[in-house]
Amino acid sequence: MRWHIPRSHPRYESLMLRERLVEAFEEGIVVPQGLIAHGRGEAFDYILGERSHEFAVEAERVTAAHLILSSKPIISVNGNYAALAAEEIVKLSIETGAPIEVNLFYRSEERIAKIEKLLVDHGAPKVLGTKCEKTLIPGLESPRGIVCKEGIYTADFILVAIEDGDRTQALKRIGKKIAAIDLNPFSRTAQTADITIIDEALRATKNMVNIAKEFKTLEREAVEQLTLNYNNKTILSKAFKTIMQRLEEATAKGFIIEF
Ligand code: ATP
Repeated sequence: MRWHIPRSHPRYESLMLRERLVEAFEEGIVVPQGLIAHGRGEAFDYILGERSHEFAVEAERVTAAHLILSSKPIISVNGNYAALAAEEIVKLSIETGAPIEVNLFYRSEERIAKIEKLLVDHGAPKVLGTKCEKTLIPGLESPRGIVCKEGIYTADFILVAIEDGDRTQALKRIGKKIAAIDLNPFSRTAQTADITIIDEALRATKNMVNIAKEFKTLEREAVEQLTLNYNNKTILSKAFKTIMQRLEEATAKGFIIEF
């Protein structure tokens, strides 16, 4: 860590995440565009109060259930997601049995290898990336559409995080069920996914690890039950309502944070 951030700093968690991303940028794991994308996420997190709301936890529970129940689930990991949450992604993979695929918008074999190594060093049992047989997602020009045949291409359920809307839409077009972690409920990814987790990627993944552990104590039927009656439009509406309520409160009082 290049800069010492005191634990007592009111924005400690947020500053730590920035440090992680800057370090990962210097290591060649995160691209400069990823730093900008993080800023957009931070802005929404600030508006939402930097916590996991009930609508996020509901989507996280349903996603964890699908990762456990699907016959071919996969966790798609990019540079930002790996930099922020490598340890928790690996735990989620272990708890749910879902393998990991490194899949990059700004793709280079060197960056894939670095992210793969980071995840393997954290104990990932299976990471698809450099060595898999490649194919293309129809509708996306190469190299943005390159995926592993054994992984995303044949998966029935895909968890993506901090993802671009084009790719999410292309995956939907070939019939994939998608859960997306995205703090911006307006984004095309958030609007396209079957399950939208409007939460910060590290918090969301930590939550899902705990949820998956809890599900291990339940019968399969009970976990299946959780996936029925899920309505993503309701989740998105609740997120917009929360944003509106926070803005209304700030508008009425002139402040939102109690110092
Ligand atoms: P879309 O293409 O889906 O309309 P976009 O153009 O914003 O969205 P990107 O620029 O690829 O897509 O940005 C990735 C998304 O990830 C943004 O919506 C941003 O709010 C979100 N995001 C960034 N950092 C985080 C994070 N740490 N946790 C959750 N979401 C994040």
